[in-house]
Amino acid sequence: KTAKQKPGLTLLIAAPRGFCAGVDRAIEIVERALQKYGAPVYVRHEIVHNKYVVDQLREKGAVFVEELDEVPDDAPVVFSAHGVPKDVPAEARRREMIYVDATCPLVSKVHRQAERQIEAKRHIIFIGHEGHPEVIGTMGQVAEGQMTLVETVADVAKLPFAADVDLAFLTQTTLSVDDTDEIISALRARYPDIVGPKADDICYATSNRQAAVKQIAPASDLVLVIGSPNSSNSLRLVELAERCGTDAKLILRAADLDPAWFEGVGTVGLTAGASAPEELVREVVDQLAEWRDVHEETLFSAVENMVFKLPRQLLD
Ligand code: SF4
Repeated sequence: KTAKQKPGLTLLIAAPRGFCAGVDRAIEIVERALQKYGAPVYVRHEIVHNKYVVDQLREKGAVFVEELDEVPDDAPVVFSAHGVPKDVPAEARRREMIYVDATCPLVSKVHRQAERQIEAKRHIIFIGHEGHPEVIGTMGQVAEGQMTLVETVADVAKLPFAADVDLAFLTQTTLSVDDTDEIISALRARYPDIVGPKADDICYATSNRQAAVKQIAPASDLVLVIGSPNSSNSLRLVELAERCGTDAKLILRAADLDPAWFEGVGTVGLTAGASAPEELVREVVDQLAEWRDVHEETLFSAVENMVFKLPRQLLD
């Protein structure tokens, strides 16, 4: 008896995809903190927005909490890659806690810019998504009332500032490159003297992953994005694929795949957000290969070799 032949499926895998240097570093910080201090090591907020990563670290002895007041004074605590408002490390110092800051250096760079603009007496317009921890962290670098959040072009039109007010803008690192361009153009049109970064503060990983999806989406019948629903950069990848006119699904891992999605589908695009590990990409490919005769192709649109240094306190 011969095995039933499976129908073919072309799988276009985006590159770069998955882990960025900031996520790699944040995970390594928790692992090294566990080695150095022993379990439990507390982590304020999900270290990166991925349940699989969080569950693995929890198994090794990390304890995830939302606020510092849930951490005992004598336990080490790590701050997540998204960054924290200034009062969080200040409180940790006041309580004489051992803390390690896993804020991505590219987020810290935006924090320093915020301080600099305030020193230069400019009010800051921050482009970001309300409620995201990175936005809370960056807005928490300056005193209340010194930074105004805008999420859309329509928000720019509603800003209360006169044309002669000294303004600067900064952005979240994980935004849609295209949407942010439009918002910045609207800002510059309304406030020609506004000061800001050369383009925006969107990080290399976010823009590379978006460019890679733009390559695979038009050639795919369906795009799968591996990532969490609270991962900003993953959500932007789903949105971008849809804007290319292709259906897209956000999945956490292979168990979320529904065979019905693939009926009549000949080409599937696959990518992963910056907080999604490569194991989950392989898991999805393997699941698809059980249903279909998969032909894999990787489409490279950039090569990444970014590595960030670990905090010195974990190197000894
Ligand atoms: Fe850093 Fe960008 Fe990764 Fe965020 S997505 S951790 S800003 S490299």
